[in-house]
Amino acid sequence: MGNITAVTRGGVVYEPSFVVGINQLDCISCGRCYKVCPRQVLELVDRTAEMMRSRDEDDDDDDDWEDDEEDSDATMMAIINAMDCIGCEACARVCPKKCFVNQPLPMGS
Ligand code: SF4
Ligand code: SF4
Repeated sequence: MGNITAVTRGGVVYEPSFVVGINQLDCISCGRCYKVCPRQVLELVDRTAEMMRSRDEDDDDDDDWEDDEEDSDATMMAIINAMDCIGCEACARVCPKKCFVNQPLPMGS
């Protein structure tokens, strides 16, 4: 069975690239992906205590995106509605930390 395909207005067939993962350890909770997602696939959730510890050990400068956005260590972005994703990759394009994993998927997956 082939991958899921879509068609442009001009009739060109292409393979959407669906969100299949988020590197939550690197997420700075900036919310950019949430704002651009047209399908409400994503949501900020609380970090687990274990995740907070891992992040402390990582000790990366987690706010190197210099702007006025409030970034938070207490939350991380999560996929809460994967089956509504249309594979537009807007989330991956705006993420300053390259957290997203997107890929074409087979029909019926
Ligand atoms: S690929 Fe598009 S629809 Fe899917 S989660 Fe990212 S922004 Fe939302
Ligand atoms: S854009 Fe990237 S860093 Fe910002 S909340 Fe989404 S996953 Fe996290």
